[in-house]
Amino acid sequence: MGRPDVAIVGGGIGGLTLGLALRRHGIRARIYEQAPELGEVGAAVALAANGTRVLRELGLEPALAAASTVPTELVYRHWTGPRLVDIPVGEGYAAQFGAPFWGIHRARLQDALASAWGTEDLHLGKELVDVEMLGGRTRLTFADGTDTTATLVVGADGIRSRVRARIADEAPVYSGASGFRGLVPRSAVPELPDPDAVQFWMGPGAHVLHYAIGDVVNFLAVVDGPDPWPGPGGMIPAAPGELEEAFRDWHPAVRALLGAVPQSPRWGLFALPPLPRWSADRMVLLGDAAHAMVPHHGQGANLTLEDAAVLADLLADTTSDADLPAALATYERLRRCRTRQVARSAWVTSPLLHLPDGPAARARDRRLADLVEDFSWIHAYDHREPAGLRTRRKASA
Ligand SMILES: Cc1cc2nc3c(=O)[nH]c(=O)nc-3n(C[C@H](O)[C@H](O)[C@H](O)COP(=O)(O)OP(=O)(O)OC[C@H]3O[C@@H](n4cnc5c(N)ncnc54)[C@H](O)[C@@H]3O)c2cc1C
Repeated sequence: MGRPDVAIVGGGIGGLTLGLALRRHGIRARIYEQAPELGEVGAAVALAANGTRVLRELGLEPALAAASTVPTELVYRHWTGPRLVDIPVGEGYAAQFGAPFWGIHRARLQDALASAWGTEDLHLGKELVDVEMLGGRTRLTFADGTDTTATLVVGADGIRSRVRARIADEAPVYSGASGFRGLVPRSAVPELPDPDAVQFWMGPGAHVLHYAIGDVVNFLAVVDGPDPWPGPGGMIPAAPGELEEAFRDWHPAVRALLGAVPQSPRWGLFALPPLPRWSADRMVLLGDAAHAMVPHHGQGANLTLEDAAVLADLLADTTSDADLPAALATYERLRRCRTRQVARSAWVTSPLLHLPDGPAARARDRRLADLVEDFSWIHAYDHREPAGLRTRRKASA
């Protein structure tokens, strides 16, 4: 009895953060990761106040702030160059939202989380193939033939989660758009205006997002199609010149940025439809396993950090296994609502970023001036507030 015995499937951003948040509450967890070593695919990640406040609580701010770059402003541009709107970020952002905005290399974030976690409760090369209830415990079976049990299994195993397959039937849906990513030395693109900003360039059927991390500029170039998505996985090789061709008529600085590094593979942008439930028996989902979304608000990882903090706080309040169902139900109620709102907003943003020139694009551009007001609800969110968790914890201290 007592504290739950937690097995976390997946050693990504979500799994490691949950492990650390549980440890802070004196709850021991074991992490099972399929990869033989921890590493991150992809380039950079933008962490907003709603996510950085979780990392701050875990004591990771000094390490992460040193590895991050704070953008100067948020800029939207027309695909031919003109600035449509610019909103200061920097120190003012941290003052407004109570925590900083960081652009960071994914590998650096993963390193910071992994070093804080250590190796003792990290089991690498453990690909989960099955999970089932066995009396009062849940059994996890791995591809190498081994198994283990826990009182609670958390599926932090990403968009193609095996744990989710035991809880809900939903599968990721292709958004109709795909992205190319790159890290370009600043010195290679002297013509790029505002390299220190988080900058969107919007044009017909495509957009480019970039921001700086130290000496490099991270970009994500998103184009409509291919439709349908041709592969079973989320990434496919792209024929030489595909990216260049898609942006052939764009501003020279955009073409210089995208052409400065070898073309990446193509990432299909997928999202999960809302799940009818996030937990069953002694299994629960977290992060992309529960709410993978298109990346147009840069929020998938931030919401994953929120999930981890909320779940850890709720589990900390349990005193026996009998409390687990209520804790999971509260977690599910809080997180489904919040993540659905952000996911839906990101989904409807997608076509707005790709409008052809014309009245609809002009109406969108006029609306951009209200951007901070429109999206502050995402960044201002404090994971401790909605559950009354802060109040309850203070009262019980
Ligand atoms: C192009 C792009 C740009 C993005 N940019 C941003 C951004 O700027 N800001 C932001 O907040 N979010 C961004 N996101 C979203 C963000 O990357 C994800 O939301 C985040 O990585 C989710 O973390 P996770 O831990 O849930 O899943 P993952 O990071 O996918 O980690 C899952 C882990 O589980 C492991 N695993 C999977 N299956 C098994 C198994 N069967 N057994 C054991 N282990 C398993 C995997 O190996 C992996 O380590 C972006 C996404 C994309 C596609």
